[in-house]
Amino acid sequence: MKVFVYALLTLSVLAAGWLGWQVFGPSRAAATPTVERCVEITFICTETGALSRGPRVETPALNPALGRATLVQALYCPKCQKWVPMPPAAVLERMPLGPVCLEHRTALLETAPAGSPGEVLR
Ligand SMILES: [Zn+2]
Repeated sequence: MKVFVYALLTLSVLAAGWLGWQVFGPSRAAATPTVERCVEITFICTETGALSRGPRVETPALNPALGRATLVQALYCPKCQKWVPMPPAAVLERMPLGPVCLEHRTALLETAPAGSPGEVLR
């Protein structure tokens, strides 16, 4: 019986701690970046070439700066050391191993490796 009471006490302390964390812990907005880092991808504007980051959405996505759907996913070529637009679906079909750089035939990355010039936009 003593064990049961102890377990109950531990549980309520844990529950109180969890509640406290929910109410007084860091706000959701502050807690999300670590999660968002995995979900966020890089976009490139097909009109201006401007890069931006955002949650993964269907493309072409609306570019708020232009008011038009010009954003496509940007992929990083470690050899070009630059971001390139995701190849069109018809081209992707001929890339069974995933998108590759049309120039170098190297695999394109969703995030630039640490220390690379494109890392600012990881
Ligand atoms: Zn390349």
